[in-house]
Amino acid sequence: MSLLPLVGSKTQVPLLDGATTTYANLDVAASAPALRSVVDRVAEVLPWYASVHRGAGYLSQVSTALYEESRATVGAYVGAREDDVTVITRNTTDAVNLLAGCVPGRVLVLDIEHHANLLPWHRVEAGVTAVAGRETLAGTIDALAGELARGGYALVAITGASNVTGEALPVAEIVTLAHAHGARVFVDGAQLLAHRHFSLAATGADYVAFSGHKLYAPYGAGALVGRRDWLDVGTPYLAGGGAVDDVEVGETTWQPAPARHEGGSPNVVGAAALAAACTALGGLDPAELDRHEASLRGRLEAGLSALDGVEVLRLWPDSDEPVGVVTFTVDDIEPGRVAAYLSAEHGLGVRDGRFCAQPLLKRLGLSGGAVRASIGIGTAVGDVDRLLAGVRSLLAGDV
Ligand code: PLP
Repeated sequence: MSLLPLVGSKTQVPLLDGATTTYANLDVAASAPALRSVVDRVAEVLPWYASVHRGAGYLSQVSTALYEESRATVGAYVGAREDDVTVITRNTTDAVNLLAGCVPGRVLVLDIEHHANLLPWHRVEAGVTAVAGRETLAGTIDALAGELARGGYALVAITGASNVTGEALPVAEIVTLAHAHGARVFVDGAQLLAHRHFSLAATGADYVAFSGHKLYAPYGAGALVGRRDWLDVGTPYLAGGGAVDDVEVGETTWQPAPARHEGGSPNVVGAAALAAACTALGGLDPAELDRHEASLRGRLEAGLSALDGVEVLRLWPDSDEPVGVVTFTVDDIEPGRVAAYLSAEHGLGVRDGRFCAQPLLKRLGLSGGAVRASIGIGTAVGDVDRLLAGVRSLLAGDV
């Protein structure tokens, strides 16, 4: 049973033989279906939205209050400290590009990152250094420490959890290391936050970014939350109305964050939807969430690993329990064919490809890609068993 009510859980999809079946969505790491409470909240606020921060009319006042309350809820969900800033962005990619315009120096990354936490840093004038992963997580942390000790880094940009293997990084440990060498830490929370509670205050991390569409809210709203000073003086992300204090032709005085980075009319409904998702997920018991995920992920990983010709990808033998993301390969069958078969014959949604993490896939010798199944709050044992049965029948040549 779903930990919280979701919409679309009974969606019927066509199969190749003309029958229909209930869709088993094992691709929630790409985008998760909306929570019922989010849909209700959107319906509630839609009649009220109007231009924020600029109008004296009643609807503008209501909308401005709604937008700012949503911002506060989103910040609180990730344990923002009192003087942290919450910028409402379109998604994680948007948030990382924004921060890249504010970071005042070199950035250190691992080679396991999603392109969203890799490519924006290439734009940083002072450059980015990638630390190639090691055989173990301990070795990877040592490599990070060695690089940090060389000095000169303003920021370490790490994923909270890999979108390929689900393995989580020890954020608090990396924060201690980075801070000891004068560097801040940015956490790409796009995957982690859909699976686990996260707190800036508790981990000491300086920034976190995440996307609403992975948190059971619609597309188009995400957030960057973190330390005010860089965001107050960094390059304004979206130049335009609302981001400025004073304008002469050719000369502009910019607002501090968050307005500085939110030029144009903001996504008020998206922010309200994101906040509703944060409220619902924040109310889940973390232990219950962990139990749900760990049992389903364990069942899926064990079931796949037991099949001859199937290999489950893991980066490090010494990492803790991964989040609900399991990536695998099937001997001699291209990932695209595996995914197409599972969809057409079994009504299963999985993802195939390189998961926007090409450096990692290349390091794993998988330039041709792999197949990813992901587990969320709505995933049931039956979904996992259907996937296992589907892969078994594929291996049995039932194509
Ligand atoms: N980071 C990770 C780890 C992801 O899995 C994703 C999306 O798959 C992103 C960043 C980018 O998220 P978005 O496409 O919402 O910007």
